Order: sequence, then structure tokens, then C-alpha cells
Amino acid sequence: MLQYLKTKEEREEFINKYDNFLFDCDGVLWEGNNMFEGVAESMKLLREKGKHVCFVTNNSTKSRASYLKKFEGLGIKAELGEIFSSAFATATYLKNVLKFPTDKKVYIIGMQGIKEELALEGIKSCGAEEDSGLFDNDLIPDDPEVGAVIVGLDTQVNYRKYAKGFAYLTRNPGCYFLLTNEDSTFPQHGSFYPGAGAIAAPLITALNRRPDAVLGKPALNMLEAILAEYKIDPKKTVMIGDRLNTDIEFGLKGGIDTLCVLTGVATKEELLSDDNKTKKNEQSKWKEAFSLYDKKGNSTVSSANLGDLLRGLGQNPTEAEVRELIKETAKSKSIPESQEFDIDFGTFLSILTRPDGFKPAGSSQEFIQGFQVFDKEGDGYISAGELRYVLTNLGEKLTNEELDELLKEVEIGKDGRINYIDFVTVVLSN
Ligand SMILES: [Mg+2]
Repeated sequence: MLQYLKTKEEREEFINKYDNFLFDCDGVLWEGNNMFEGVAESMKLLREKGKHVCFVTNNSTKSRASYLKKFEGLGIKAELGEIFSSAFATATYLKNVLKFPTDKKVYIIGMQGIKEELALEGIKSCGAEEDSGLFDNDLIPDDPEVGAVIVGLDTQVNYRKYAKGFAYLTRNPGCYFLLTNEDSTFPQHGSFYPGAGAIAAPLITALNRRPDAVLGKPALNMLEAILAEYKIDPKKTVMIGDRLNTDIEFGLKGGIDTLCVLTGVATKEELLSDDNKTKKNEQSKWKEAFSLYDKKGNSTVSSANLGDLLRGLGQNPTEAEVRELIKETAKSKSIPESQEFDIDFGTFLSILTRPDGFKPAGSSQEFIQGFQVFDKEGDGYISAGELRYVLTNLGEKLTNEELDELLKEVEIGKDGRINYIDFVTVVLSN
């Protein structure tokens, strides 16, 4: 539900409701070097009330250590461990998830923040400020040591960096292509400048390839790191941000509450638009249904309940499809296929919102027309094989058992052929 915090009482109630406050920085605490009015006081108040505060920023230009200095300079109390940035998320992703080989290095289109965070993880890098200056289509020598190209916000970006990034990604087999974040813009001097997503766009176009991973919000890497590090309860946690498609999406995907401030990117009109309201209502409906199946009370549902949950939300996967979804999810989490396992809300959302997940089942007319193609005698009967073929083509993948179950109630001719109009009536009544 969308609620506008107008009165002092409403704001107090909001503060009392949560133990953990995750703050985006640009557009929430400050714009450039100008801190917004009331920020220092609000932070002090939260600390005094014993609240836990974290900073979660997609801005990769600074390392966590530089952010800490910035906080100190602005008179805001913070600790290094409370700062989570997309540069840090990218460095830990390379090290812990991709197990980036120590004999390889990273080419950076971005700034100091990325370089420093990589160095802290013991990862070698090149590029960034080394590659300034004009470029006259000089020869780019091969550098097989480059095993990843990272793109983040870069206020010194130039053609040389793009040409080198492109060269490594096309010449070096297996070279990873990572974005720290994909914000299209960022707030600056009362308006907006192009963001990291805009910096990466030329490379995406030239390569005709999406990045292998985007680490900033709304990806859940930083939330997972925060929840693991501080062992906090997601139900007592709120994400405060200024951008709908990063901060707010991040909270929704992660199953935590959100507060959108109007000091940065999002406008009140956008927030109140039908588009956004529909999305919010949908997401809260999804979350509610998910909670109903959360039998252990640990914000997960068992893989055994996945099919029921999807059907409860208006999808109509067959048993075979559900098995396939569970198998893929297990594989992505390195869980043995046969084992029942817990699915968190973020993973569930990515399953729920898979392409064609909400595609309606074919209409009776569509099915009948499909069957008629095979009904050469025009007597209303087709063979079981033909029936299966049409169903598969209309996106209804049924197992043999499921089909047998449906056929039990259908009239079958002497030659074993099936009355398909009867069949459609049975399918639709199920
Ligand atoms: Mg922001």
C-alpha cells in the first residue's frame, strides 16, 4: 500500500516500526557535495533511538573508505562496515562468485572507487585514469591478461577506453563484462547528468551484448551482504531511496519495505502514476501470497509449494513446467535436484516474472482450430499424438500422466482417437 507520510505522528510511527534503515546516498542524503537540510539531525536521531543504519549506494566513483571521509566531512557518524557501494559489490562478486583468477586483471572504464575496492580484494586492474587523452585510432595491442571489463560512472570517459574495453571483450575468450550499476542518470546541481548506464550504453551497442552481471541495485547482492553481515530481520528493515527502478525495486525484490523520498530522481507524479500503483499493488499481492506459504517463518517457501503458489497468483504452469523451474533454480544455487529446498522472495520473484509466466492459457477456439488442422475426416476425432503436438505448440506442455488424467473424462473412439471438442471442454473446466 502506498502511504504518504504527512504528519509528525505518521513519521514517528514510521521510525518506530523499523530497526534497520538502509539509505541510498545521491539524491537522498546529498546532491554532489551539498548535504540536504535535516540529514545530519535525522541520522543523529536514528542513532540515538538505537536504530541500525546502513548506506547502500550505486555510485562507484568512490571507495567505501572515501565515502567514510565524506561522511566525516559532513558531520555524519558512520562506520566502514555500514557502507555498501556498487564498486565494493563488484569487487566481492569477482572474487567470491566468479573466483576471478589471480593471474588475470580487470580493465576499468570508471573511477578510483572501483580500482581501490578491487585492490582490497587483491585483484589487479588497469585502465581508468591511465587511459586519459585523445585517441587517434592508435593500435591497441593484445592483452590476454585482461579477464574482465568493468564499467561504472566515469566522468573522464573517452574513446580510448571504449576501444580498449571493446578490444578485450572481443579478443579475449571468456572475458567478463560487468557493470557496477545501470542508473540512466544521477542528480547533480539541481538537475541530472548521465549515469553509469549511459556510460555503458556505447559498449553494449558496439558489442551487441548485454553485460554478464549488473551488481548495483536493484540486483540483490548488496542486500544479501547486509542481511548476512548484520543478521537483521527483513521485516524490520526499510530501504530509503529516490529512484524507483533501483532503490525501490531493490526493496521490493528483496521483500523489505521501502520509502521513496522526493529530493532526487523520482517525482510525486511518477510515484502516484497508475503505472507505479499497479506495480506496487501487484508486488504487495505477490508478497502476501508468498507469506502464506512461508511455513517456516523465515521469509522462504519450500520448492514443493512452488506450483501451488504460482497457480495461486494466476499463472497456469503444468506439473512438468514446475519441475523444470525447480530444477533450474536448484541448479543455479548448486542444490541437488532431488532435494526439497527453500526459495527466498527475490528468487521467487524472478521465477514469477519469467518471460511468458503470465501468458494466459490458449482459448478454447485456439485449441479447436489447432485440432481441426489434423482432423482430416472432419468427424471431430484426432489421434493422441496429434493432440499432444497441438498442445505443445500452444505452449501447454503436459506429461504423459497429466494427459492420461485429462483423457479419463473424454470420449475416445473405437480406433483410440479422441473427441477433441470434448477434450477442450474438460481442459477448460479443470
Ligand atoms: Mg539516488
